[in-house]
Amino acid sequence: MTSAKITPFEATDVTTIPSTVSRVQAAFRSQKTKPLEYRLSQLRKLYWAIHDHSPALVEACKSDLGKPVFETYLSEIDWCKNDIVFITKNLAGWMKDEKAPDIPLMNTLMKPTIRKDPLGAVLVIGAYNFPVQLSLGPFIGAIAAGCTAVLKPSEVSPATAMVLKSIVESSLDPDAYTVVNGGIQETTALLNEKWDKIFYTGSANVGTIIAKKAAETLTPVCLELGGRNPAVVTKNADARLAARRLVWGKLLNAGQVCISQNYTMVEREILPAFIEQLKIALKEFYPNGTKSSPDFARIVNQRHFQRIKKMLDDSKGKILIGGEVDEAENFIDITVVLVNDINDSMIVDESFGPLMPILPIDSVEEAIRLANSVHSTPLGFYPFGNKAETTKMLNEVRSGGATVNDAFFHGAIPTLAFGGVGDSGQGAYRGKASFDVFTHRRSVATTPGWMEKLLEVRYPPYAGKLSRF
Ligand code: NAD
Repeated sequence: MTSAKITPFEATDVTTIPSTVSRVQAAFRSQKTKPLEYRLSQLRKLYWAIHDHSPALVEACKSDLGKPVFETYLSEIDWCKNDIVFITKNLAGWMKDEKAPDIPLMNTLMKPTIRKDPLGAVLVIGAYNFPVQLSLGPFIGAIAAGCTAVLKPSEVSPATAMVLKSIVESSLDPDAYTVVNGGIQETTALLNEKWDKIFYTGSANVGTIIAKKAAETLTPVCLELGGRNPAVVTKNADARLAARRLVWGKLLNAGQVCISQNYTMVEREILPAFIEQLKIALKEFYPNGTKSSPDFARIVNQRHFQRIKKMLDDSKGKILIGGEVDEAENFIDITVVLVNDINDSMIVDESFGPLMPILPIDSVEEAIRLANSVHSTPLGFYPFGNKAETTKMLNEVRSGGATVNDAFFHGAIPTLAFGGVGDSGQGAYRGKASFDVFTHRRSVATTPGWMEKLLEVRYPPYAGKLSRF
């Protein structure tokens, strides 16, 4: 068992990056990462390395984010282990060639096939809030697809980044898989190299930098970005259920969840009951408050603490629940604020923290209009109400994914592809999608020599040939 001591963060020497990238590119060209057995053995080794490093990951996530042990197992360690189990069980089937569908009779002789070729050497850039799953999740997909890969974890969760390096270096083929640690300088050096795909998770601002850089070399990208995610509670919703579930959407990882609701629109008739149920739920979950509870995380660092605090300070809304902040601990309480403007400081930008602005509305139509007036496409959408209402809302508000009558549960279903749409991202992963995102579906036809007589019609001169079709 690896010791659970925190390793001080150490950035990778940038001058080594070009040779590291050459090494993983050469490993891909060597063909060794393509056989099923190689992929399975790497994935199994990674599984056990994650398992053996569990205490170190728990300590690192606690150091970086004050992450509760339960959450670290649920949303980081077991999350990745379960992904590996699912992928290893299904990989052989996914790798099989597919026959082209509905082939015209003559073309069947050419055996039109879709091969599942690995894209090549890929770069995975992770974000800080789920520092294990957002790094290893796509990395697992790259291994499964037969790619070689460099992982660049977020330096904003430095302790976890060091454990990830140890996990990869202790378990995987060093020619094919490695970790580069660092911030802007190291990521920029990585982006200066030629990749076969870049998989990025993080903010839209940096996503734009990545996409521009990738465009210079026509490198495909998968971008997993953020969004201003709306939740709606109609008068026909179950106030208790909606309150419990939505407050969970803000308490997990102290709201530092890309799919957490950014604002909640509540029909006026149900507003008092909903607020009351929020208070009851919080009292039940944290009888002595969040601050002294081991089950509530901290904001990752001072910069993000100040950013979220400013949103709260600038808000014109009225605090109904919470409001306590403690700079010394990067603590921000779950804070429910009644606002009256879709342009409130807590709504115009993604809070990515435990703020829960509530905007009263008069109708489902108003909720739809307001959600669509925010000029960004959310990553998640959470309508609560009766079937007709939630169906209407799902039909009329775009989002990367959605959960009906709950907070972001769609993101926790391991076999459901996860991704954004519009400016919340492009591409998806998890389950089979993790394999697909690093796979080239290569169309291949094989024309036997004996078909030449049949195919001769294609050659000029064309005169008189059209009538034969
Ligand atoms: P971030 O953009 O600050 O950092 C993400 C990664 O980008 C890090 O690895 C970092 O080193 C790198 N990076 C930062 N600045 C860079 C630069 N100038 N050039 C090159 N690389 C750079 O994102 P974050 O703060 O870690 O994450 C928060 C954002 O990410 C939120 O918007 C959140 O919604 C989003 N997010 C999305 C998902 C998703 O799955 N869609 C998941 C988590 C977070």
